[in-house]
Amino acid sequence: MFFKNKKIERKVTLEKSVLDSVITFCKMKHPNEGILILKGKSKNGQIKIDGLAIPPFNFTGPTFAGFPHSFLPFDNSYIGIVHSHPSGSAEPSVTDLNNFFGLVSLIIKSPYDDDSIFAWDSGGNALPLSINDKSETEKN
Ligand SMILES: [Zn+2]
Repeated sequence: MFFKNKKIERKVTLEKSVLDSVITFCKMKHPNEGILILKGKSKNGQIKIDGLAIPPFNFTGPTFAGFPHSFLPFDNSYIGIVHSHPSGSAEPSVTDLNNFFGLVSLIIKSPYDDDSIFAWDSGGNALPLSINDKSETEKN
């Protein structure tokens, strides 16, 4: 397929193994928010998340998880953050948007399963998110 004249379609792909780690981490942090750094690459609007990093330090509580960006080591494989919403919706709060880091923000809400995770851009717009399960794509 040839998309040269089309506007770039942004799409986020998340490795299933990364999703599983996020789920485990956020369940552990519950009822507090958990926050992790997303590692991966971005090319032509395609954001591919294939790893996680633990922030050097973080503040967590029931209502907001965050860390000062100025303390983040510079690493261009850091493409965003994921954090949990122990209650309520998976929509980003105003605080989340003010603390946006990188290209994409993933939010996972309770009960932290495969259908509880959503991707957002810095404007609070939903981005299509697909989970890449290697055992399933082998069939192609
Ligand atoms: Zn939030």
